[in-house]
Amino acid sequence: MIDLTGRTAIVTGGSRGIGRAVARTLASAGANVAIGYHANQRAAESLVEELRMAGAHAIASAGDTSRRQSVEHLFEAAAAAFGAIDIVVANAGIWRRAAIESMTDEQWGETIDTNLDSAFLICQAAAREMIPRREGRIILVSSTAGQRGEPYYSHYAASKGAIIALTKSLAAELGRYNIRVNAVAPGWVITDMTADVMSDPGFRDAVIRHIPLGRIATPEDVAGPILFLASQLANHVHGEILNVNGGSVLCG
Ligand code: NAP
Repeated sequence: MIDLTGRTAIVTGGSRGIGRAVARTLASAGANVAIGYHANQRAAESLVEELRMAGAHAIASAGDTSRRQSVEHLFEAAAAAFGAIDIVVANAGIWRRAAIESMTDEQWGETIDTNLDSAFLICQAAAREMIPRREGRIILVSSTAGQRGEPYYSHYAASKGAIIALTKSLAAELGRYNIRVNAVAPGWVITDMTADVMSDPGFRDAVIRHIPLGRIATPEDVAGPILFLASQLANHVHGEILNVNGGSVLCG
């Protein structure tokens, strides 16, 4: 029932993890996909190659999404390749441990810049592209950390909580232009981001014990709900924070 043929999507952080699965899922639904990545050129190029081999149209653009110039470059590259941008997934992010009493300005700033400034810049570029056309779908990636907080990751949790507020604010602001704005809030997902902590079997078992569904999410578990939000099936879903956490955080 989902057909995105002829639609164009930008996915930031598309080289690895959740973003990579999102790019694959959107492409398999027919969308042209432009992925943004920071430094991992090999991963980005291998995905583009894979998607093209599968018959999809895909490009990759390198840059730091916390910098305006990089975001403009990503949107320009996508528009040059495919034309109008229909779907934007603001997914790029980092998760780095720092206790509050020793957190440096640089640690705080790096996380807020990468997670929150990036979301602002991506949403602004998306709005500027979509408002004149009176159509678009923006999906942000928050986290359970933004809903319940997370010890030793206060900067990360603050950035993800702010993304929830940003999502609701932009839904209220952009709905009149037929631009739907939603977010997903994943719990633990198996990606490079969590590989270190999950390599400790005791930690991993403790995480699983707190997930009613009894397993940690795969990137594909998050990509499916993002595809839904990007699709016509979600035509009246707007300002929603869609929990993708196996039941670990039960909040509406
Ligand atoms: P990941 O595997 O570490 O991948 C991160 C992606 O973001 C990579 O594509 C990376 O590019 C890109 N990136 C990082 N910093 C960037 C920057 N400054 N500019 C542009 N791109 C940048 O992470 P993930 O687990 O898939 O997480 C994706 C999103 O989901 C993040 O926002 C994260 O906070 C959120 N999330 C993750 C989990 C989880 O358990 N994994 C849970 C909840 C929410 P390179 O490949 O070039 O480095």
